[in-house]
Amino acid sequence: MVAETAAIDCDVLIVGAGIAGTAFAAAIRDRGLSVVQVEMSKQPLDTARGDHLQCVVVEQLDQWGMLPAFWAAGAEKRHSARYVTPTGEVIMPVNYQGLPIPHPYYLYLNHEVIAETFIGLARENPRHTLFKPARARDFDFLPNGGGIAALTIRLDESAAAPDGFAPGQDVVITPRLVVGADGRGSRVREEMKYTSHAHEYSSPLVVLFGPQLFDDPEHEVRSFMGPHGTLSRIPRTGGHWKVGMSIAKEDIAFWKTATLKMRQQAIAVRAPELEGFAAEVGGFYPVKLLNTDQWTRGNTVLLGDACHAMHPARGQGMNVAIRCLARLVDLLPDAADFANAEILGKRLRAYESGTKPAVDKVLADNHARGEQMDSRDPAVIATSAAALRKIADDPEFLRRYCMQSAGYADSLSALNG
Ligand SMILES: Cc1cc2nc3c(=O)[nH]c(=O)nc-3n(C[C@H](O)[C@H](O)[C@H](O)COP(=O)(O)OP(=O)(O)OC[C@H]3O[C@@H](n4cnc5c(N)ncnc54)[C@H](O)[C@@H]3O)c2cc1C
Repeated sequence: MVAETAAIDCDVLIVGAGIAGTAFAAAIRDRGLSVVQVEMSKQPLDTARGDHLQCVVVEQLDQWGMLPAFWAAGAEKRHSARYVTPTGEVIMPVNYQGLPIPHPYYLYLNHEVIAETFIGLARENPRHTLFKPARARDFDFLPNGGGIAALTIRLDESAAAPDGFAPGQDVVITPRLVVGADGRGSRVREEMKYTSHAHEYSSPLVVLFGPQLFDDPEHEVRSFMGPHGTLSRIPRTGGHWKVGMSIAKEDIAFWKTATLKMRQQAIAVRAPELEGFAAEVGGFYPVKLLNTDQWTRGNTVLLGDACHAMHPARGQGMNVAIRCLARLVDLLPDAADFANAEILGKRLRAYESGTKPAVDKVLADNHARGEQMDSRDPAVIATSAAALRKIADDPEFLRRYCMQSAGYADSLSALNG
């Protein structure tokens, strides 16, 4: 017998448990708010996506008291990055160690483990409920553009339900604030008729994984720039590497069917030192920029890829999402004022007007870098490498570049808490 429909009121409904949704739930864990989170996928997040947290984000995690949980989950430190030619000649070294910042390193952890760590922290809030898997698609709306009045979900028949709920049950969630953290294809964005513009890049990315080939004490990201394209070798926890590169659409078939030897040869064309890398294909990613014209409408607000999806060229999507949501957390009213739609609306609008212009600028800069990576044209790559060499030749430019990469001198740094 199917249980009767259940009803749950909450201060915050979060749609999506990717990095944006889980980080937000964790960041508000001690605010005295009741939080309901709805995630449609049964599976862990895709491990190939963002896994390196910028120095400035590490500082934010520290301020939120989250760092011990990340070290306990196996996070490691990366101290540098290096742009090189295919033969290893240095184009530009990027080092964080000497920078005058509290955490002069990137923290890295597999993408799905970052989200699991955030969810573990979110659960410290006794009033956090996660429905997973449950898809958000049946919304009721408030009058006069006031936003979302309720969401009805059906719990999965075959999965355990949170305490007090039964598998297969319908649940009506009545929220005061709705956070659309449901990724690039956001249902909240669509239902609330946010407008946006998008750009599709022509070259998809292929991501490969394998054990590291040789000792790498700095755990550095090494980007090989040459006539056959750019390839990045990225450290993963436990002595593994991830390799990412732009490829032509028509080459997807090659990567799907290639033997290990063929994959190794194809990688070695761009980065000879990786010749023996035992590369397994992790996935293919069509790349798209998406920027919404608004971030908030009525009682709804969008976070992460739902409102600002970008090319992974600069490893920014997840980092920008966390830096933005930190500002939203600062602006949220106290629990006692959550039921006041006027106060809530004002705070959401203040968040958008104070943060979005900086993110629009990040998206524009990121797009320029994305276009360079997308082109795979040797002349374009040579021009990019020449520009990096020029920065490397001037100690002050290089220091500034390192600070930008750390998140302390970029378009968003005015927002740093
Ligand atoms: C190959 C690759 C490498 C990358 N590398 C980096 C990097 O190094 N650094 C970096 O900062 N960024 C990187 N990024 C980008 C980064 O991964 C994303 O910007 C970030 O993960 C977006 O998180 P999100 O939570 O906004 O969205 P998502 O991760 O898409 O999460 C959205 C969640 O919502 C759920 N959902 C969707 N619709 C519904 C619904 N209707 N009901 C319930 N749940 C729903 C989905 O199942 C999903 O779990 C990379 C991306 C790719 C593809």
